[in-house]
Amino acid sequence: MSTADFVLPFDYDTALHIPADEAITIASKALGLPILGGPSGRGWSWYSTAQRCGHLFNIERLKNPQNTAPVELRHPSAPLQIGTYYHALQALYYAVGLGDALLHNRGLRAASVRRGFSAWWANPINIKARTFRVDPMAADHLLDRLKLLADQTANDLAASVDDSINRQPRPNASYIAEAERAFDVHTGYYGDGREEVQPLAIEWHATHPDGYTCRYDTVGALLEGDRLVQQSVFKPGDVVVYERKTSAWMSQAAQFGWSLEGEILGELWCWDHGPRQLFGDLKAIIVDVVTKEKKPKCERLILQPHELPALPDFVRSIRYTDEEITQWRRTGYYPKKLAACYDRWGKCGLWDACARGE
Ligand code: SF4
Repeated sequence: MSTADFVLPFDYDTALHIPADEAITIASKALGLPILGGPSGRGWSWYSTAQRCGHLFNIERLKNPQNTAPVELRHPSAPLQIGTYYHALQALYYAVGLGDALLHNRGLRAASVRRGFSAWWANPINIKARTFRVDPMAADHLLDRLKLLADQTANDLAASVDDSINRQPRPNASYIAEAERAFDVHTGYYGDGREEVQPLAIEWHATHPDGYTCRYDTVGALLEGDRLVQQSVFKPGDVVVYERKTSAWMSQAAQFGWSLEGEILGELWCWDHGPRQLFGDLKAIIVDVVTKEKKPKCERLILQPHELPALPDFVRSIRYTDEEITQWRRTGYYPKKLAACYDRWGKCGLWDACARGE
C-alpha cells in the first residue's frame, strides 16, 4: 500500500487535537497575554456558509455543540486553523507598537485614539488605570507555549499502547509549525515594517447597524518610512487596514481575488459605522499574502475604497441571505446545494454524511 492509499479516519484530527482558538486561549491565559482575535460573530464566515449550502449552515452554525450563539466551528479546517495561529502571532507582534493599549472584545486599540469615545474615556486618569503594554517578545512567548502544549508527553506515549489511559487532546503541532513558517517569512519579507507603521488598533471588532460584524487585523497610520509613503502612493498619517492572509500557493485567487472577497467588502461596509469615527477616513485595505509552499512567496495587494465597486452587490446579497435564513428557520427546510459540495478548499466536511443520504 502506498502512502497515497492510506486514508485517515474522518474524525482522526478531531479526536486527537484541540482547535487553534482553544489552544491560543489556553496559552494566552497561562502567559497573562490578552486573548486577541477569533470569531467575529455574524460576519463573513457566518454568511459564506449560508451562501454555500443551507444544510451545511444548519449543521455547522445552528446545530453545532456551541449552539448558544453564532460561533466558529468546533473543528475548523486545517487552512483555517493555520490562519488562526498565524493571526494570533501577527496580532501580538504588531500590538507592541500600540504603546499604552486598551482591550475591547478581543481587540486592542491605542489609548491615544480617543475620538468617538466618551468624556470618561478621554480622562487620562481613567485611561491610565486600564491600559497595559504588550511585551515586545509576546509573539515569541505565545509560540513557545503553543509548541509546549503540542509536544508529545509520556502520557501520550503511554496512552498509545494502553487504551485505558486517557490521551490528552493537544494542539496540532504541524499547524503551529506552518503558522510559524508563514509568520517568519512575512516578518522577514517586510523587514522592519513594525517600525514603519503606527498601529492604532489590532483585531478591532466592528458591528454594522444591520448586525453584520467584522474584525480588522491591524488598523494603522502610515509613517514617513513606510514603503508606500516613499513610493508616493500615500501620505504620512494616512489610515489603512492590513489584512494578513495565508494561502497554499500563489493562486489567481490569492493574487487577484480580493476585490470580490466577502471579508474585505464587509470591512469596507463596516468602516463608516464606528471605525471611521475612531480612526478617520480609510485610505486602503492592504492585503498581505504569504504562501505555504516549500519556498514561500509574499504578495501585497492595495485596495482603495473606489476600487471596490462590488460593495452594493455584497450588501444586497447579505440582506438577501438574511431573508433566506429566516425562511429556512420558518419552514425547517435547509436546502442541500449539491453544486457546492467541492469548493476551492476541497470536499465539504459533511460530504460523507450527505452521500449516505443523511
Ligand atoms: S456535502 Fe454538499 S449538500 Fe452536503 S452539506 Fe456539504 S455542500 Fe451541502
